[in-house]
Amino acid sequence: MKKWEENIRKVEPYVPGEQPQKKVIKLNTNENPYPPAPGVAKALNSMDTDELRKYPDPTSESLVCEMAKFYGVKKEQVFVGVGSDDVLAMSFLTFFNSGKPILFPDLTYSFYKVWAELFGIPYECPKLDKDFRIQRQDYYKENGGIIFPNPNAPTGIYENLDFVEDILKHNEDVIVIVDEAYIDFAGPSAVLLLEKYDNLLVVQTFSKARSMAGMRIGYAIGNERLIRYLNDVKYSFNSYTMSRAALLAGVESVRDRSYFEKTTEEIIKTREWAKGEFLRLGFSFPDSKANFLFVTHPDHEAKEIFEKLKECDVYVRYFGGERTGRYLRVSIGTKEEMEKLFDALGRILTR
Ligand code: PMP
Repeated sequence: MKKWEENIRKVEPYVPGEQPQKKVIKLNTNENPYPPAPGVAKALNSMDTDELRKYPDPTSESLVCEMAKFYGVKKEQVFVGVGSDDVLAMSFLTFFNSGKPILFPDLTYSFYKVWAELFGIPYECPKLDKDFRIQRQDYYKENGGIIFPNPNAPTGIYENLDFVEDILKHNEDVIVIVDEAYIDFAGPSAVLLLEKYDNLLVVQTFSKARSMAGMRIGYAIGNERLIRYLNDVKYSFNSYTMSRAALLAGVESVRDRSYFEKTTEEIIKTREWAKGEFLRLGFSFPDSKANFLFVTHPDHEAKEIFEKLKECDVYVRYFGGERTGRYLRVSIGTKEEMEKLFDALGRILTR
């Protein structure tokens, strides 16, 4: 190692899913198979590019107000960022500052561990049970904050609001973050608990149900004081997080509630149909309420299926590892895309 290398911060980075440049059936990063709301294309096409000379609004007022209206909260309760990854990273930095270990499940969104390491936040990872469920009692002990996704990733398991509230009741002295990246495919959001719990932060994204992973918009909703603290950290890091294009597109997306509901409903329908198809082929899986299924086959190695699907230009996600090595995570595409997946799987499993 060179002398200058000794003091460099060394981290083990998060590994994002592959983004192949060729056209494939892409079921590996939980994107939405439908385009964004039609108003988004219109807004971007008629965007005044001369405006790009100027910095965007650092407060992202237009988008923040539109979100506040959508969720029936005050604009002071909304924070926006460059995808929920940015919002979550800022939240770790802002709220997990006690020196005590924060808690998140052992099997969950793998970025949590990366942020904890990067920011030097101690953490503990209570084990999911054998059915991949979060054990609520594991979160009753003293801690420096809690984060978990609901539905969880990569299992897709959704816990109802009684469960979320129970965790909040046992943790009134720390910040509890519920990462709701997939909530629109699942059930009621913890946003409904915000009036009762001022230590709750709900984080959501435009990347899944709003079909805009490529635009990078995420947001947090919480008590006004939490949002103020979050903004203070944001302004200490990067004031202009949201580009003018992202603000325009984001506002249009939120305005079109019926398109959002229609495409989300379609994905849920396809997911439920896909469950039957996976069962027919001998797979089993936790009962996912997200836009993906976490499937395993008793007679076939997941890695092998993954590789063979790739040869057929069908991309799914394989994580490997002790607890996940026998599983594949398959995003829900259009019905047609899923039919092609099942055709390919049928061929692979009978070979
Ligand atoms: N949380 C969870 C649980 C996720 O699976 C993802 C998607 N990888 C994210 C947050 C981040 O999504 P984005 O940054 O696109 O909003």
